[in-house]
Amino acid sequence: MVSFLPLLLSLLPLLSSLQISDVTPTSYSLLFTVYVDYAQYQGLADIKFDLHHTEQQIVLHGRDFNIHRIMLYQERAEIKTQYNMTDGFLSLTREDGEGFEAASYFVRIQYSNSIHKKLTGIYLSEYLDDDENVHQIVGTHFEPTEARSAYPCFDLPHLKAPFTITIDHQSKYHVLSNTLIKDSRQITPTLTRTSFLPTPPMSTYLVAFVLSDYGYISKSSSSGVLCRAFFIPGREDEVVAALDIMTRSIDFYEDYITAVFPLPKLDIVPLPAFGIGAMENWGLITIREEFYYTDNETRFDHQLFMKAIITHEVAHMWFGDSVSLSSWNDLWLKEGMAQMLMFVALEHMSEKHPDPSVTISDIQGTMLAFNFFPAIKADSSPSTHALSMDLNSTGEATSAFDAVSYAKGASLMNMLRYSLGERSLRHGLSDYIHKYKHKSATLLDFLSTMDTAGKIYGGISVSEFLNKWISQAGYPVVTKEGVT
Ligand SMILES: [Zn+2]
Repeated sequence: MVSFLPLLLSLLPLLSSLQISDVTPTSYSLLFTVYVDYAQYQGLADIKFDLHHTEQQIVLHGRDFNIHRIMLYQERAEIKTQYNMTDGFLSLTREDGEGFEAASYFVRIQYSNSIHKKLTGIYLSEYLDDDENVHQIVGTHFEPTEARSAYPCFDLPHLKAPFTITIDHQSKYHVLSNTLIKDSRQITPTLTRTSFLPTPPMSTYLVAFVLSDYGYISKSSSSGVLCRAFFIPGREDEVVAALDIMTRSIDFYEDYITAVFPLPKLDIVPLPAFGIGAMENWGLITIREEFYYTDNETRFDHQLFMKAIITHEVAHMWFGDSVSLSSWNDLWLKEGMAQMLMFVALEHMSEKHPDPSVTISDIQGTMLAFNFFPAIKADSSPSTHALSMDLNSTGEATSAFDAVSYAKGASLMNMLRYSLGERSLRHGLSDYIHKYKHKSATLLDFLSTMDTAGKIYGGISVSEFLNKWISQAGYPVVTKEGVT
């Protein structure tokens, strides 16, 4: 995502551990019945998972919602359980006092919740039309650890599974999610059931949906990815530039890392109330309104900002979404990568389609303003930290979205780009994306892949080169003493 720290700090959740049972989720089927006008939803979560060790409890993540019923099955045999939901954990224990053996399980959880206006989880926002009529929108924002407030899950980035999402909604609203619609049909006089195609294996925080009365324009990328830009009715002309840059970004990255776009579609949708700049939900980018709509009257720097944000989020479709973090400890890896690549994309696109209003030096100047200067400032502060950290709570995970992770991370990636050279960088990134597609990767996985690319072309040991930059806070200061 593109972050804005002061806004994020105001959203810090309570501290709790990030740990749960040793499980592998194998599929999620989520049904949300969303009553936008009543600010309520009901949920039905079917989760299949493998438990790897005998345990007294099965521990998922869950918070804030009201549970109506839980049914747990092992090999089609129901196991009677009791549950406890505290501090972000949803723990199941057997009624007979026995432990859970290592096996495959299926859990069905019925629950409900209200839809609030807190800017995280499933939340409500609204806009006014020209006649001052209020139009309501329900959107989602789960990164890093808010998925657990919307649905029960194993809410860690490396615990990926395919998601099948179905949304029952008042028929007057249009609904979007991560994938294309499989089926949409009226199920009551006022409710429509919209089912979406299954996702590839995906992290919990990337699940997203938006209900609105927006319109959209669309075009296809060169490889046939359906790209749609949504807008408040009447503002169609103001999203043409955003759709253009999103589509061309897909073309650029597919060529740059020789990897096809991992989904058949990509939507971008503005949310009137949004706590950050933009979010890379897989296949469904959400963006702050004021960074999205542009026209010929829009200031040059604002237009460039919009383009940079969108190229950042499109980079995440591969870096972070297709290849996920193994833990939030290395958040900087995906954010630094996207924050570096967005300018690489803008440079290359600018060379291919020269635009007198945006020169390469404009882009490079913006890169310094985005990445280098904030990195130096943040990294010289007493509160700076090493890029890779040992995070132990949801609050710590949220506060990791700071200038060190983004700007220093990007500066480090930029240093890597110029040290390796473009050919080695592209080779390494392509290998990384192909090797860990639909999986998660550790920092060591990334470094060893880049090591291989560095040795092939330039003889550089990337891990040796980057190690201290990653593990130590601050930056080297060289002083020169001499006689004047
Ligand atoms: Zn990002």
